[in-house]
Amino acid sequence: MSLIVQKFGGTSVANTERVQNVARIVTETYKKGNSVVVIVSAQGDTTDDLIEKAAEINPCASKREMDMLLSTGEQISMSLLAMAIQKLGFPVISLTGWQAGMKTDSAYGSARIHEIKTERLEAELDKGKIVIIAGFQGINKYDDITTLGRGGSDTTAVAFAASLKADLCQIYTDVDGVYTADPRIVADAVKLDEISYDEMLELASLGAQVLHNRSVEMAKRYNVNLEVCSSFKDVPGTKVKEVVSVEKMLVRGVTRDNDVARISIIGLPDEPGIAFRIFSLLAQKRINIDIILQSIGRDGTKDLSFTVSNQHLEAALSVLNENLVSFKGKSINYDDKISKVSIVGAGMESNSGVAAKMFEALFEANINIQMISTSEIKISVLIDGSDAERAVKVLHACFKPEI
Ligand code: ASP
Ligand code: MG
Repeated sequence: MSLIVQKFGGTSVANTERVQNVARIVTETYKKGNSVVVIVSAQGDTTDDLIEKAAEINPCASKREMDMLLSTGEQISMSLLAMAIQKLGFPVISLTGWQAGMKTDSAYGSARIHEIKTERLEAELDKGKIVIIAGFQGINKYDDITTLGRGGSDTTAVAFAASLKADLCQIYTDVDGVYTADPRIVADAVKLDEISYDEMLELASLGAQVLHNRSVEMAKRYNVNLEVCSSFKDVPGTKVKEVVSVEKMLVRGVTRDNDVARISIIGLPDEPGIAFRIFSLLAQKRINIDIILQSIGRDGTKDLSFTVSNQHLEAALSVLNENLVSFKGKSINYDDKISKVSIVGAGMESNSGVAAKMFEALFEANINIQMISTSEIKISVLIDGSDAERAVKVLHACFKPEI
């Protein structure tokens, strides 16, 4: 007998029919003799709708009250699913995050998991029950409800799988696995049977929207067997694990991320400590920086460019403008219509020429590269947003024989 954790995303439980469909998937797994723990997201756009509703009443509502509100979305899903499973005649119980023992810190809206006390959960499993848990939420030391941040239900699922030492953690979603590129952009994108944690982590961070990157990080740390599968099609999904049995691919996937903005500070003095001061200031405002490019000093000045997510653009510009004089910079400009296109593959590590091939393909398509960043297993380029889809297609075609 195995212990299986199954997570169902918002689209998978969006309406009555889909909740009933999930009830079938869960009970099929249970009928095979497995213990089953299920994590659910809020139905469809519920979380967005709740955020909108809150803004109508008070755009500056406290984060504590926001978490109180947002946690209800997952609670609707969990109880409806439990009812659907009861109707099919199986023993089931739904638990909120706190009932299931999910303890977090007090960072409302982006809480970190401290520990999971699984006694209650295990007692229910011992009674032979299917246990449904509300995703994305926990409780802090003040007994107040917290949430883990958008997309947090994936992390909930992996965290429970890790603490219960589950045999498998299945993430059910509206796509049937991880593809070499977004199939909506690239018609001949291929579904991967397997992918390594590191590759999945890069893909998830670089804009592939199948798994939340925090959940992949946690799966890697605790060696949780992950599988991404479809709740609509009964086909094998993609397995995410430490070592993949297939050969290390040069390129495992091509991604695009539109959530980037470039900021450039022009005419900074070419002297030590400037970058330190600028990035400390941004760090104090909790603004994450991605790609950084500094020009060579010329005539005593240099330029510094870097990228942030769109959500941080305004805050970054305002703190930089306030301090431009003290940095002795000349001007600041920005571009929020850019995209980051990346190729990811563990085989890159031991192969030269991948970057050259990528840049050649972009050159032939007349796509201008603004910035470049690399790691051992990925190469990202920053390009004009209007070129992004074309770049994904061109790069997928270029590396397809190797995929
Ligand atoms: N409902 C939450 C959200 O939309 C959590 C999740 O779906 O993972 O962000
Ligand atoms: Mg969601």
